[in-house]
Amino acid sequence: MKQSQPYLLTPGPLTTSDATKEAMLADWGSWDQDFNAITRDVCERLLAMANASDTHVCVPMQGSGSFSVEATLGTLVPKDGKVLVLINGAYGKRIAQSLEYIGRDYAVIDKGDYEPPRGDEVRLALAEDPAITHVAVVYCETSSGILNPIDEIAAVVAEAGKRLLIDAMSAFGALPVDAKTLPFEAVISAANKCIEGVPGFGYAIVRRDSLEQCKGRAHSLCLDLYEQWRYMEATGQWRFTPPTHVIVAFQQALNEHAQEGGCEGRLARYTRNRDQMVNGMRAMGFATLLEDQWLSPIITTFMSPTDPAFEFKTFYNLLKEKGLIIYPGKLTEAESFRVGCIGQLYEPQINALLEAVAQTLAQMNITLKAVA
Ligand SMILES: *Cc1c(COP(=O)(O)O)cnc(C)c1O
Repeated sequence: MKQSQPYLLTPGPLTTSDATKEAMLADWGSWDQDFNAITRDVCERLLAMANASDTHVCVPMQGSGSFSVEATLGTLVPKDGKVLVLINGAYGKRIAQSLEYIGRDYAVIDKGDYEPPRGDEVRLALAEDPAITHVAVVYCETSSGILNPIDEIAAVVAEAGKRLLIDAMSAFGALPVDAKTLPFEAVISAANKCIEGVPGFGYAIVRRDSLEQCKGRAHSLCLDLYEQWRYMEATGQWRFTPPTHVIVAFQQALNEHAQEGGCEGRLARYTRNRDQMVNGMRAMGFATLLEDQWLSPIITTFMSPTDPAFEFKTFYNLLKEKGLIIYPGKLTEAESFRVGCIGQLYEPQINALLEAVAQTLAQMNITLKAVA
């Protein structure tokens, strides 16, 4: 299995296919109509994936996913709006931080490191503060790997007549997003997550009738989603220099996504990866942070063993020597590490991971008991 470069068991950038990498071996003019057709095709396919072609528009934005989140917040939330941010990890916190920077009012429900925000508490918070115009939630909170109850939250937000902004960065392309059953104002993701492209741009799928109202609202020239959209509609081009190679690679990644059976096919593989990984790790003595109900098929947090011989840095380096890159934990209270299931990873790679972990424990002189 061992490829010349290590496999990334991380939440993105992740291991991409050879064909996706090879798609970058050509140069494109940003004004060229062949390139513009690729951008248009990519946006149309993303909209179709969200079952949103007739209600929403897809606006790509240069930069990493956070740039698209900030562009969406700054463009959609009016200067006198107020956002209720549901926080249970680093990415929810980042939304609040963005709002702080761009000067939009907000309130938070902060559940700590790994408790899911629930519909009832959102209902209560909305009833208590009528100034709230928008609710922001993270679909899969990548910092713990928790899968938040997005349907439950969307229903409450819709019932209260508020607008829902979903950071679906690490979910879109695998977990279901259907505009016909999940009422949302905007869903945001990026090239280097479940579609398995390389990093360089993100995108927001936004209600067309809402975006039409957003002229002049953005806090930033570059992160103005409205102007990006209008310019693209008018000219077919990106407003400023696009990451051409990244977009062409992303189109190839979308082809492979479709060949795998779209979101359903991808979710099935990621779920198999997760189950194989979690079962194998538990059998070796690693406990997951979360109960099964909240485990996403994207990334899993494992608690570091309490054995004093366990040191993450050593564990990481010994795995890297075996061609596998894992991810540090992001919990504030307990020592942990994360292992991703997304990217070009299949049964042989998960087997390789489990073997490498077993060898590494032996190298570190650590003996663990299986977790029930
Ligand atoms: C990856 C990710 C982001 C974007 O992070 P960047 O560092 O900007 O790539 C935002 N939210 C979630 C949930 C993510 O997984």
